[in-house]
Amino acid sequence: MFCPKCGKEIDDAAVVCIHCGVATQNAGAQQQAQVQPQIVINNANTNTNVAGGVPGLQAKNKWVAWVLCLFLGGLGAHKFYMGKIGVGVLYLFTGGLFGIGWLIDTITLLFKPNPFYVA
Ligand SMILES: [Zn+2]
Repeated sequence: MFCPKCGKEIDDAAVVCIHCGVATQNAGAQQQAQVQPQIVINNANTNTNVAGGVPGLQAKNKWVAWVLCLFLGGLGAHKFYMGKIGVGVLYLFTGGLFGIGWLIDTITLLFKPNPFYVA
């Protein structure tokens, strides 16, 4: 290839002309090559967020949990649905913590995002 400024012949892979020191077209190509991997990494992160959500957490449908809580909350049904077996058993034997836990859960579930995530 030839230098775009001084016109002298230089190596095809040269980034800078050895005659005048001006950057060649290869310099621009290398900068683009350095930028592209970052874009690929960003895409990979976006895909992970869309597909998987938060690792270790399970997505639960808000309205399924709310209906379970409203009608079967005294039996801890919504707690079993969320995978909180221990609390579910506690609700089962105490009638939703004597109605107080059931009442609080019915209200707080309404303010959760849909879907919400449980550990
Ligand atoms: Zn040159």
